Amino acid sequence: MDSYCVFGHPIEHSKSPWIQARFAELTGQTLQYEKTWVPLDAFSTTVHAFRAAGGKGCNVTLPFKAEAATLATECSPRVALAQACNTLKFDGEHIYGENTDGLGLVRDLLSNAGFALQGRRILLIGAGGAAAGILGPLLTEKPLSIWVANRSVDKAIQLTERHASLAASEGVDCQAFGLTHEAILSHSFDLVINASSSSLSHAALPVPASVLQTNGLACDLMYGPAAQTFMQWAQAHGTEARDGLGMLVEQAAASFQLWRGVKPPTQQVLTDLRAWVSHSK
Ligand code: NDP
Repeated sequence: MDSYCVFGHPIEHSKSPWIQARFAELTGQTLQYEKTWVPLDAFSTTVHAFRAAGGKGCNVTLPFKAEAATLATECSPRVALAQACNTLKFDGEHIYGENTDGLGLVRDLLSNAGFALQGRRILLIGAGGAAAGILGPLLTEKPLSIWVANRSVDKAIQLTERHASLAASEGVDCQAFGLTHEAILSHSFDLVINASSSSLSHAALPVPASVLQTNGLACDLMYGPAAQTFMQWAQAHGTEARDGLGMLVEQAAASFQLWRGVKPPTQQVLTDLRAWVSHSK
């Protein structure tokens, strides 16, 4: 049976085995998908051992996404821009690297939330691995602007500089700011994406409510109880709120499609996963 795995540290929380098993069931595919905790200094040896034992591909989560990009013998333009990779596909000696995080978020916003991105003003909060994975795919949807605001402004500048050529070719105003920069405090945005780990660490909201718009959308990449404070804050200011569960399912679907050549249905899986997560609160 074809074998796949998700590698991370920690990994116990991962919903990927459940999601991939549902995709296999719904598409009539036969495969095995497990999760494996990896010591911090053993990522590449673990991946190579899995491949040597016949593994067909893997997902990669914190904190190994940057290291995974270095293992790929060929990678997508998304991995090159993000400098991070969440999906590897093995084919003999060949290792193909993809980053499906941004593809997943864009699909969730367009298809599941019904939120058009073209011509919109977007505030992207954070400049870590998640923000790096989603900036490129967001740019290719041709919003009017994407302003990246991060606690450490240097990281936001590095991220936007890496994407400057793509932003120019897509005609998008893409700039970097600190979280408390006047430009952030004095503007509101059609879409506010919290790609920082503020919700994960139960920290204060990273930006003031003045960034929100009535009839806009605010999305936290986090999901479960930890995303509730951000979502309730947005809703209290008349903004529709969304968590990261849809992105989680859609990025997994993009990985499945890369490995199996079949696009799995996602709606039912997202509905079932949402019920599971809310029951386990
Ligand atoms: P990283 O550790 O790579 O980056 C963390 C980012 O958050 C940095 O930009 C950091 O700023 C910022 N940050 C941390 N604490 C705060 C705070 N208190 N206030 C403001 N900014 C803060 O994490 P990731 O980018 O990998 O993950 C970010 C979030 O995205 C997590 O919640 C994660 O669960 C979620 N995620 C969801 C996915 C999904 O499928 N739904 C997929 C991937 C991630 P600085 O640079 O200043 O340190």
